[in-house]
Amino acid sequence: MTDLAFIGLGIMGAPMARNLVRAGFTVTGYDLDAAAVARLAEDGGKAAGSIADAIHGAEIVITMLPADPHVEAVVLGEGGVFETIKPGTLFIDFSTIKPETSQKVAEAGAHQGVRVLDAPVSGGEAGAVNAVLSIMAGGIRADFDAAKPVFDAVGKVAALVGPHGAGQVVKAANQLVVGGTYALVAEAIVLLEASGVDARAGLDVLAGGLAASRILELKRESMLARDFRPGFRIDLHHKDMGIVLDAARQAGVSLPFGHQVAALVQAARAQGLGDSDHSALLSVVERLSGR
Ligand code: NAD
Repeated sequence: MTDLAFIGLGIMGAPMARNLVRAGFTVTGYDLDAAAVARLAEDGGKAAGSIADAIHGAEIVITMLPADPHVEAVVLGEGGVFETIKPGTLFIDFSTIKPETSQKVAEAGAHQGVRVLDAPVSGGEAGAVNAVLSIMAGGIRADFDAAKPVFDAVGKVAALVGPHGAGQVVKAANQLVVGGTYALVAEAIVLLEASGVDARAGLDVLAGGLAASRILELKRESMLARDFRPGFRIDLHHKDMGIVLDAARQAGVSLPFGHQVAALVQAARAQGLGDSDHSALLSVVERLSGR
């Protein structure tokens, strides 16, 4: 059984770690939240009280953390992963962060003989729970191949999309499409309801035609019910829209709709919805319409 350390047992990390236990890995987990670590131990994993404790003896180290500062602190900071990690270890960062932070981590890893992959995921909490995530990896082929058993345990589709940081660029494109789709589904709901037609029946029809999307398929009921429990928090999508717009600036391209989506996500935060699910963009569109 391969020894694996998993750091960051939140909405995504907890079910991913559990699925790795089920797939036969020996998983030692660490999180600032001791209750999350205890839950992993109940599910057959091992509890660690520190990063060093978690990665001791691990052949594979995984992080699933909120944003760039957390990854920098946990991986590169004092008492962090790279202080005690052994050369030859495979390090997989599933977090969604800036491509340049992933490149920085990969460079630091290379100095220590650590094999690094950025491997952000798509599929949401349900995808993590059901082990059907889509994984977009950046790094080298040999490391991607070595990570395949991990990817198979947590996901359905995994692709090596380019060198270090490339996974994050693909994830940025993913978040652009996801944010834009939520915004448009929200506008469709507001239009249907304000026009007095049966919004549920209308969305059912949309979901069967060219307007179909996973978001319409999976989230229309909870959106109609205004159930905005996360899921994926607005605060995290705000972080991701920042990555999208930075990447666009660096690539020298114009993303007019991306800017509008970023503004809607920003408005959601300003309205106190930072901890709500990103489907709460519906509330923002409703308020814009005085509803
Ligand atoms: P989350 O906030 O639920 O979980 C993050 C976990 O990291 C928390 O349990 C937190 O305690 C832990 N953590 C933070 N700092 C730490 C530290 N210094 N040491 C140890 N643990 C620490 O976030 P999430 O929703 O699981 O998202 C994680 C990442 O996955 C983010 O980058 C997010 O953008 C991405 N993502 C989320 C979803 C989703 O639907 N939630 C989908 C795809 C990708």
